[in-house]
Amino acid sequence: MVREPKKTLILAKQAGDFALHGFNQLLWPSVCINCRGSICETDNGLCNQCWSQLIACTGADYCRRCGRDAGKAGQVEGACPDCQGKEIHFDQIARAGIYSQGLQTMILAFKNGRTELDKILGFLAHSALQGSGFNKEIELFVPVPLHWSRRLLRGYNQSHILVKKLNHPAAQISTDLVRIRRTKAQPAMTSPVARARNVAGAFAVRNGHNFAGRNICLVDDIKTTGATLNECAKTLKNAGAAKVFALVLAVAGQKM
Ligand SMILES: [Zn+2]
Ligand SMILES: [Zn+2]
Repeated sequence: MVREPKKTLILAKQAGDFALHGFNQLLWPSVCINCRGSICETDNGLCNQCWSQLIACTGADYCRRCGRDAGKAGQVEGACPDCQGKEIHFDQIARAGIYSQGLQTMILAFKNGRTELDKILGFLAHSALQGSGFNKEIELFVPVPLHWSRRLLRGYNQSHILVKKLNHPAAQISTDLVRIRRTKAQPAMTSPVARARNVAGAFAVRNGHNFAGRNICLVDDIKTTGATLNECAKTLKNAGAAKVFALVLAVAGQKM
């Protein structure tokens, strides 16, 4: 019988790896990155319950103009009944899901210090972009900026962290869109008019920006009425942007 030293070595290494892995599992069992419950190791780092809650909020067909849930039959000239006739400054929108249950919990945690959730949220945002139809046109990603005082308080801009997880083959990230005025928290306001007034003139571009003639994709965590995205898109278009797209994790105001 011919001996196969190489194969024996590989098998021994695999057995060693397996034992080491088992030992690590004993010392540091894998935990779900969302609820921290213990799990068998999976690719996405989520337990089955968190994963199925997340799936329930994502995947439905939506209006490419405003991001709300919409069956194709209900759309007239690319607009759903909700956004027909509304002035929207971004050209198209992509969303990962609706602001509800699993996705809502995860976004709130992400904004409250759990930045390690960037991996799973980045994966969702990346998937939404790939299904959008405008992914290949993007030249620049622009995270929706926070006012400097809010960023100081939180320690980071969640949209900027998200942008860095997108792994786009060509587009670069620009932070030349800035928030020049501190705005009131939007959830305190219910009317779309009040929200639009709240963010009017709140953004500006830095000197030396390279937005002119470019196709830009704004990135934010949540779209509620769209007043913030709209104001940002308007500012970018005034600075010469060719097209402005929007990418959000979740669109609020939807029922499951
Ligand atoms: Zn979990
Ligand atoms: Zn719509």
